[in-house]
Amino acid sequence: MPHRPYIVGNWKMNGSRAMLAEARAIDRAAARYPDVQVALAPPFTLIGALREAVTAMGVGGQDCHAQTKGAHTGDVSAAMLVDTGADVVIVGHSERRKDHAESDAVVKAKAEAALAAGLGIIVCVGETLEERDAGKAEAVVAGQVDHSLPAADVASDAVAAGKVAVAYEPVWAIGTGRVAAVCDVVAMHAAIRGRLLALYGESGAKVRILYGGSVNAGNAAELLAAEGVSGALVGGASLTAEAFLPIVAAAGTGEA
Ligand code: PEP
Repeated sequence: MPHRPYIVGNWKMNGSRAMLAEARAIDRAAARYPDVQVALAPPFTLIGALREAVTAMGVGGQDCHAQTKGAHTGDVSAAMLVDTGADVVIVGHSERRKDHAESDAVVKAKAEAALAAGLGIIVCVGETLEERDAGKAEAVVAGQVDHSLPAADVASDAVAAGKVAVAYEPVWAIGTGRVAAVCDVVAMHAAIRGRLLALYGESGAKVRILYGGSVNAGNAAELLAAEGVSGALVGGASLTAEAFLPIVAAAGTGEA
């Protein structure tokens, strides 16, 4: 694994202030794995409190609007995420693409807005089961990478600084307990890397490619050891320290 491993928890629409105790426990453990970059993306309502509660790990948003401000009821801008304590944002998660009809162009605009605000980004891509069964998985994901990632002229500094990540998340593997075969993950990550090099030139090698989709304590070590896998985006198993910490441990060597 040539990059610093990156393990990101996505709490989705889960969590109340009571769950900050879990986040504190995750943070204490993250401090014992300095070779691993750990971040948690709670709902908007908890970002500020999470920022106050943790020291070792990053704090993420799960989405942002592409505009900086204005008449967009219910939305939150990238600058607002920064203001409340986030340092990274997930964009283009398949649940947003599906529930909110977000196109690649919308995801790209959000990614560019996030970079302009100084956030790191995790851009999600992934095929549906129908697309995989039809033999179109690589073409679909390549198209998402080409059209959802920020343009080279606005992303070059962030790419060079390692602030741009892609999460390959097969839609059929998210929250289902079904995990992609390691050989398919390796093949897809290699295909994504090819697109990133085409998009960003040599510095495309600096973009970390995470795997997401039913990662848990039992399968993390094998997935994280796979060629081209630089980390994991974790949903369900990030909700408790007990479930999340073995994944962090599988990514790192640890000091404790
Ligand atoms: C996700 O939310 O991005 C995800 C991968 O969820 P889960 O780990 O629950 O499949």
